[in-house]
Amino acid sequence: MRGLITRKGMLTILSGPSGVGKSTIIAKLLTDDRFALSVSATTRQPRDGEIDGVHYHFLSEQEFDARIEAHDFLEYATVHGSSRYGTLEAEVEKLVENGKIAILDIDVQGFLDLQTTLDSTSIFVAPPRFEVLEKRLRSRGSENDETIERRLETARWELSQQDRYDHVVVNDDLSVAIQTINELLLAEDA
Ligand code: 5GP
Repeated sequence: MRGLITRKGMLTILSGPSGVGKSTIIAKLLTDDRFALSVSATTRQPRDGEIDGVHYHFLSEQEFDARIEAHDFLEYATVHGSSRYGTLEAEVEKLVENGKIAILDIDVQGFLDLQTTLDSTSIFVAPPRFEVLEKRLRSRGSENDETIERRLETARWELSQQDRYDHVVVNDDLSVAIQTINELLLAEDA
């Protein structure tokens, strides 16, 4: 895919159902400056504490449409049947040019889109049991019941796709999961 073939860094696709602890894992990985997050664009509203340009590029529906028309996205998808999310090509290229291990936190649809066109390592973060997801989603308190139900529905489908990934890491013990992912990525980058 365009400039990404002759790359200096490495691309990592990290997926996993809502509530699996992916954000915590990514935050920890990012404390090592060999890793960098590809900041996606989204039409969803920022949650408390989320910063534009850091967690996401928050766009209006019209702005998102304009980026599609300008062919700025490597992929984009409607996630959980509500908001749109997309990976910006310029964002990924910048990280790879800088020799970073670029982390793409994208859903399974996005992974399936990019899988055949991007040279990347893919990791699916799975819960030890399905009930753990529901418990984590409810205790987070940031979504209403309807949103949680929708996210659990998506999670069932996402879990059924996990074998398509290069690696599946079960997040039973958070520090073990982080360590496993860290080692996997540094080994692949060596
Ligand atoms: P949240 O709204 O909780 O931040 O994210 C919801 C879901 O959107 C997560 O599963 C996340 O991986 C996914 N997501 C975030 N950015 C992108 C993107 O650029 N493309 C796709 N396809 N999914 C994304």
